[in-house]
Amino acid sequence: TPGIRPLIAGNWKMNGTGASLGELQAIAAGFAEASGAKADGLICVPATLLDRASKVLAGSPVASGGQDCHAKDSGAHTGDISAPMLKDCGASFVIVGHSERRADHGETDADVAAKARAAWKAGLVAIICIGETREQREAGETLTVLSSQIAGSVPAEATAANTVIAYEPVWAIGTGLTPTIPDVAEAHAHIRAELARLLSEEAAKVRILYGGSMKPDNAADLLSVANVDGGLIGGASLKAADFLAIAGAA
Ligand code: PEP
Repeated sequence: TPGIRPLIAGNWKMNGTGASLGELQAIAAGFAEASGAKADGLICVPATLLDRASKVLAGSPVASGGQDCHAKDSGAHTGDISAPMLKDCGASFVIVGHSERRADHGETDADVAAKARAAWKAGLVAIICIGETREQREAGETLTVLSSQIAGSVPAEATAANTVIAYEPVWAIGTGLTPTIPDVAEAHAHIRAELARLLSEEAAKVRILYGGSMKPDNAADLLSVANVDGGLIGGASLKAADFLAIAGAA
């Protein structure tokens, strides 16, 4: 989108230990050259790695982020992690409402909106994930699902500075399947229009990422679609060579 700097974001999911920091080092060292300094980078690591990852990435064009946060700042929530805790470990972003969280932990749109607000309060950028299931796409419900997820998960105080939207068709995540280019264009244009209803002029500046089986060989096509302002990359973010190749397509 004109005037929007692309964001190439990795989601390591439940992968990575101290042994993976070398890969992160390679991403930090290679990102500026790979992207021609034309994109921002981000890796959302497991919470256990965040403090170390932030130190490895410090001073590079690649930020660190978390993959989820609790809606509260602190309290009796064993095993959960709050947005201020992520911030304390050097994060500048947090993914909220990833489809795996929605499916594995029953997170609703209202939960996701509360997490986005918690992220903002802690000074983090919220990457709010939306996307239809295979059944919803086959039933022709994709655009209505996206509308209702945006209405429910994106608080009206969202700005281009505090929020990124990630469109991730659930059936494309980790499957090697991707929507057709016209389908990606349609979904992203629809998301932009829905954001405009919610946020007025601010919507034109909000980054909308595509996620779902983005790889070095399809990244250039996906990233050149109108209203695609970067990618959220799972599997292909684990290897520096793949992630940097995608950054090169931005
Ligand atoms: C994701 O889960 O955010 C994702 C896009 O995964 P993958 O790239 O592996 O499909």
